[in-house]
Amino acid sequence: MDYNLSPEQQALQQRVRKLAQEKLAPLAHEADEMDELHPGVTKALAQEGLFKYMVPKEYGGNGISVINVCIIREELSKVCGQADSTFAMQGLGSYSITLAGSEDLKRRYLPKVATGEAIAAFALTEPQAGSDVGSLQTTATLDGDHYVINGTKRYISQCGFASFYTTFLKTDPGAGTKGISAIVVDKGTPGLDTSKKVKLLAPHVNGEVLYRNVRVPKSQLLGAPGGGMRIALSTLDVFRTTVAAAVLGMAEAAYAAALKRAKERKAFGQPLADFQATQFKLAEMVTGIEAARHLIFWAAWLKDSGTAQVIQQASMAKLFATEMAQRVVDEALQIHGAAGLEKGSIIEKLYREVRQPRVYEGSTEILKIVIAREILKDK
Ligand SMILES: Cc1cc2nc3c(=O)[nH]c(=O)nc-3n(C[C@H](O)[C@H](O)[C@H](O)COP(=O)(O)OP(=O)(O)OC[C@H]3O[C@@H](n4cnc5c(N)ncnc54)[C@H](O)[C@@H]3O)c2cc1C
Repeated sequence: MDYNLSPEQQALQQRVRKLAQEKLAPLAHEADEMDELHPGVTKALAQEGLFKYMVPKEYGGNGISVINVCIIREELSKVCGQADSTFAMQGLGSYSITLAGSEDLKRRYLPKVATGEAIAAFALTEPQAGSDVGSLQTTATLDGDHYVINGTKRYISQCGFASFYTTFLKTDPGAGTKGISAIVVDKGTPGLDTSKKVKLLAPHVNGEVLYRNVRVPKSQLLGAPGGGMRIALSTLDVFRTTVAAAVLGMAEAAYAAALKRAKERKAFGQPLADFQATQFKLAEMVTGIEAARHLIFWAAWLKDSGTAQVIQQASMAKLFATEMAQRVVDEALQIHGAAGLEKGSIIEKLYREVRQPRVYEGSTEILKIVIAREILKDK
């Protein structure tokens, strides 16, 4: 077994680390407290060519490797949450086109995603349908050569800033999940309203997308009618592991800050690091980080090696990493004492940021259901 990153992967890691430290760190405080896209952050990611890692080579990208996406997300999330989510959404929002779009749609959208000229969004969740995707209520009705879309999507990242919304809706409302289809809706289409923001615990570009008799050419449909659920699941099969990599980065940032603090801060005449209670915390933190790293890069490697479906490994990686990172950030805050609660401190920011991934792209409970289903399916 070879546990080392290849020379190319190591070079990518170094390049993103440098970008994060030199260009993103000075913007991070401002960007991570905004519910708008920070133009400097998007520009830095685009100039570095990072969005190309979300697009196949034939359409102007570098090809999509889950390991590369994990490497990038781990480095970005250590420094700037918005940089990580902007990068991630380019992939999540456009992968359905890569997977199922017509040649014309691929040529029209993907090269612009690769350069950052187009910003992508993934619109699945609704006010009444989150984990239970089958109960989504947005519909598309055929009228000549167009679909007419009506409904509401909520908690949509990049809302108001995206150039297009990959929208999951029902073309056959009576057919349950088999009636779900995916269609690309351009910003500015009459009847599309993306003006309502949703404010979250850790500021994040997010909002509600309203569709009121939005007419979209039939040619914007991805794949065949009724293929939407398969597209959504295949998308998660690629990106779920990368959420785990993002929280790994958050845990590493919290651990590094806690280690430094434990060595520097004195209480009762000695550094906190000399107390066994602190040492046990640090030992558990670093063990959790290491364990998560193995699960994440194993799931990523399996997918890149051509395993058709890694839903169990990806779900295990995300489940373990998100729960681990929550504990690590909490313990890092405890080691910091009141300084970790202070607004503007890295730990206070991470404490808010790390909570959100336990809910999206498969909540903790849904991941356990998926893992259990996989281990019991041959029973
Ligand atoms: C920061 C952020 C960004 C997001 N970005 C996007 C985006 O870009 N696009 C998009 O479409 N959505 C997005 N979402 C929405 C996200 O995908 C949903 O929040 C998620 O799917 C969960 O749905 P819900 O919030 O409606 O919770 P619910 O589905 O209502 O679940 C509530 C609780 O019940 C639990 N639960 C549900 N079903 C079961 C069950 N069968 N057994 C046990 N427990 C269960 C859940 O685990 C959860 O704890 C985002 C959310 C956040 C927080």
